[in-house]
Amino acid sequence: MPWRKAWVDPSSYPSDGNLSEEEEEQLRSVLRKRAYEVWISEIMLQQTRVAVVIGYWERWMERWPTVDALAAAAEDDVRSAWQGLGYYSRATRIHEAAKLVCNDPVLRGLLPATAEELEKKVPGVGRYTAGAISAIVFGRAAAMVDGNVLRVLSRQLGILGDVKTDKKVIDTLWAAADALVKAVAWGNDERREEGEPPLSDRPGRWGQALMELGSTVCTPKPNCSACPVTDTCRAYAEGHALATEAGLVGSSKKQLPAAPDIEELCGLCEYFEDVVELDDEEDGTVTLADNPPAKPKPVKDTKQSKLSSFFFTPTTRSSKGGDEEVTPATKPSLEAMEVIASHARKFPVRKPKKKVREEETVVCAIRRESLLEPLEYEYIIHRRPEKGLLAGMWELPSHVLPESNDSTPKSRKSAAISYASGLVRGNDLKYVGKLGSVPWLFSHLKLTMHVYLFEIVGYQQGNWDGKDARWADTEKINLENMGTGMKKCWELVRRSRDSDYNSES
Ligand code: SF4
Repeated sequence: MPWRKAWVDPSSYPSDGNLSEEEEEQLRSVLRKRAYEVWISEIMLQQTRVAVVIGYWERWMERWPTVDALAAAAEDDVRSAWQGLGYYSRATRIHEAAKLVCNDPVLRGLLPATAEELEKKVPGVGRYTAGAISAIVFGRAAAMVDGNVLRVLSRQLGILGDVKTDKKVIDTLWAAADALVKAVAWGNDERREEGEPPLSDRPGRWGQALMELGSTVCTPKPNCSACPVTDTCRAYAEGHALATEAGLVGSSKKQLPAAPDIEELCGLCEYFEDVVELDDEEDGTVTLADNPPAKPKPVKDTKQSKLSSFFFTPTTRSSKGGDEEVTPATKPSLEAMEVIASHARKFPVRKPKKKVREEETVVCAIRRESLLEPLEYEYIIHRRPEKGLLAGMWELPSHVLPESNDSTPKSRKSAAISYASGLVRGNDLKYVGKLGSVPWLFSHLKLTMHVYLFEIVGYQQGNWDGKDARWADTEKINLENMGTGMKKCWELVRRSRDSDYNSES
């Protein structure tokens, strides 16, 4: 991944501890660039696959190689560079944040180094991104916990909870990640009880390794036989015990970590009996039965987030100072491994997915003959509001149909005519025909866009040359910032010939 680079070690700069002004500026400029690169990659990676992000990130860095260049960019150019990545508000927030960071007299274009300040001062930077920038760029012992890490830790700690919505579970896993990254950052340092761990590349490498473990091995359907950390994994140990009970594991009985009875202590976990495995679920996660009994009330004064409640199997240190090699236990048979992995799949639980909302819109392409080129057409486009779905993007005028079960071709056509007529009131509007329907899926919404073509004939009234609505020819619309679904609607319009549709439909 092009954004993964060697850690910038501040101590590798002139090392007597007294940087000259020039050296300080030099270090500052390297850190500015590194922080900017990691920040952009992390924001792009939210909700988007790595393979897709690589090209976007490279083009972005070529166009705006520094945070100052981004801050000086035109808003529309930034949105346009984001086209196809989805969640367009991310582009707007990055742009706002770049301007803010560059104009701040203290930051002067350099992102803050601590996770707390990053989250507080930089718009669009949440808990995870703040931890990632702080650890990867600035070498601080900050936890970075994404969905993959939540899954790995819920299995390692044996917490059978909902890592998406149960705040206590989420906080506990963050606390675990925090304790782990601090331990990793201290390493064998004797001063581990004193203040903050020293800066190093270890927190960044550790965080990325945990995420990668979750995305390659400890996936929703885990491959426990390829896992490097079975020894500390509570879910693995429990699965192993089940396989032993079933007679699938011979003499090499594995000891369950001596954890206290968590159920009685804190009530974080669901009951296994309430967890129903869904084999047909795409990602192999499990869900709760429809009406599980309430969880037991936590015992008064329990310390749910205290990591001493959990048990990590410590690595044995040899007297020579290094870690002793652990003799690998006999690998369980394939059958036993299946029992183990199937037990691990129960972690974490999650509530059944909410049904995605469905919506229908009529998209009205309203054209007129171009005033400059008589054989060409121009179309009305307008800009979406600055907040909400596809904020600030351009589109052909669209209207959401009221929710109903009786949406028919006839009712949709009549809604399109009434919307388009209202829009260009006072003009002679001709209905040309229906061009087709474009289904489009957002994470929370299933949208169907029905595309209609209209034409204004004769003399035109009204001013359509404003900031948020205007006439535009085909070439200009091709270059305009539009969501990918709307682009598909525009393709229908652009490719249509009058012979293609029936004005009766
Ligand atoms: S042993 Fe299995 S469940 Fe545990 S961390 Fe490894 S892959 Fe995940």
